[in-house]
Amino acid sequence: MTRTSNTCSVCQKELGTSFCTGCGVYFCTKDFKNHRKTLFSEMDAVIEHRNELQEKIHKAVQHADPYNPLFEQIDQWQRTMIEKICRVSEHCREQVSQLLNSKRVKLTNDFKRFSQDLIHLKQTENYVEPDITRLKYLMHQFNHELKQLLKPVSIELHTEPSDRIIWSQLLYVEEKSTYAGINQRQQHEREDDRAGAMSPRKQPSDCYSSPIRSLIYISTEDLAF
Ligand SMILES: [Zn+2]
Ligand SMILES: [Zn+2]
Repeated sequence: MTRTSNTCSVCQKELGTSFCTGCGVYFCTKDFKNHRKTLFSEMDAVIEHRNELQEKIHKAVQHADPYNPLFEQIDQWQRTMIEKICRVSEHCREQVSQLLNSKRVKLTNDFKRFSQDLIHLKQTENYVEPDITRLKYLMHQFNHELKQLLKPVSIELHTEPSDRIIWSQLLYVEEKSTYAGINQRQQHEREDDRAGAMSPRKQPSDCYSSPIRSLIYISTEDLAF
């Protein structure tokens, strides 16, 4: 009977009939009841706190923020990018149009001027042989330009292919604060799991089968909570 040598750790007088595996000390029946009672109160406080926390978590989770300024910034970025793409495309269209039409416009204008000169000469009858030669030469030139104009214009388009752009790097977000809270909590949960796999308080597993252990269960059941 090894237990007879243990006295209650609270009153130090009575025989320690119950052993708390959490504290690792013996209690007399009365003090053990009080000891458990204190623990139950602490558990009740934990549950009360948990319920308060649930309320806060519920409110925080429900309160999703659709008006976060980040959304506005993303919208603004999107608008700016689209505007810039539109602007550069429009500029390129103008360039193509100019390349295609500039020679036509020039030929039309030059031919108009030439025709006016010709009409003037015809009306005034103020021309001599070299004028006829010059007019013939100019018409030959116009004919040549016209042939050039009818050939297809060779214009090369240079683009940055969209699949070469790393779109995910053009716009992305990153959490700035180093929030260790979740990691710390998960660490504690894991430790608890490991402890639970062995025994509730990292006591040797034979505690379950020891008579002292069964005494604790009887005592706690007797408490009228
Ligand atoms: Zn006692
Ligand atoms: Zn204890």
